[in-house]
Amino acid sequence: MRKILIPLFAIAVMTSCGAVKNSEGTSSPSISTYHDKAFSDAYASIKAENLKRNLYVIASDEMEGRDTGSPGQKKAGEYIVNYYKNLGISHPKALGSYYQKVPSDFMKKRGGGNLPDSENILAFIEGSEKPEEIVVISGHYDHVGTKNGVVYNGADDDGSGTVAVMEIAKAFQEAKKAGKGPKRSILFLHVTGEEHGLFGSEFYSDNPVFPLANTVVDLNIDMIGRDDPANRGKQYVYVIGSDMLSSQLKVINEAANKKTNNLELNYKYDDLNDPEQLYYRSDHYNFAKHNIPVAFFFDGIHEDYHKPTDKPDKIDYPLLQKRAQLIFTTAWDIANRAERIIVDKK
Ligand SMILES: [Zn+2]
Repeated sequence: MRKILIPLFAIAVMTSCGAVKNSEGTSSPSISTYHDKAFSDAYASIKAENLKRNLYVIASDEMEGRDTGSPGQKKAGEYIVNYYKNLGISHPKALGSYYQKVPSDFMKKRGGGNLPDSENILAFIEGSEKPEEIVVISGHYDHVGTKNGVVYNGADDDGSGTVAVMEIAKAFQEAKKAGKGPKRSILFLHVTGEEHGLFGSEFYSDNPVFPLANTVVDLNIDMIGRDDPANRGKQYVYVIGSDMLSSQLKVINEAANKKTNNLELNYKYDDLNDPEQLYYRSDHYNFAKHNIPVAFFFDGIHEDYHKPTDKPDKIDYPLLQKRAQLIFTTAWDIANRAERIIVDKK
């Protein structure tokens, strides 16, 4: 999660666009697919223990806080790429590898200082019926690095989102092996440069590997492994942006939630006028600004946010599992429903 707020003038512009957000969608979600055995097996394969195993690597001291372009981040990137290779999940063909280079110059021009070249990591499962339509599931794998020799592990921010994207990808791959691959394609997008200014996602949306016009949704995950003081001990997740552009997305996500772990969906921050301005503070915004529906999943601002104490032993793994299962279920619906979700709001 990015710390610095965006300039006020940009907020004013967006606030005026987002005033209409009350009406509920009328279309019902295609929840019948949830009774599918391939779905239930894939859903059940998302496990706290897997998330934990991967997070203890991604957020280890060896990764040196994963600062953008640092050797530690590249090491974490190699772990992610090898994970996909081992699962038999490839990269987008057009890209030629799992890596999309985000050049130092691009970040410099946007105030990124002297950040070195860095990489987004893209894994891809091609859809069986509508391969040209793309569902994006994203999370940033960079964090803030080390300060005065102290490693900022970023277990929650955004190690939790990183391992959730990996685990969701594995679940879709298992369903595919069982003959129930997604009808639409799914792009598992691990972006870089988030903490310095959402650079990786901005670079992707400026240089999309698949046309943005065919990009159906971005489900963005940034911090889903903890609770915040206002929700201590609760089974909840904040959802932000899900009814900003499509009247269907919030309905689909709520139905997915009811059918699964029935978490409390908290919409406190789902408000363009909220002082925390969270709609603008993670990577989904670079999709939303192109009119692509987004849902941002988040656990709140807790006492270890951007502190060296954001460590993997503080993660609530069962809750992380439930949140990842919700996002998987929502993605499953969007990827498999007959019609692409609509964009009917501005
Ligand atoms: Zn952050």
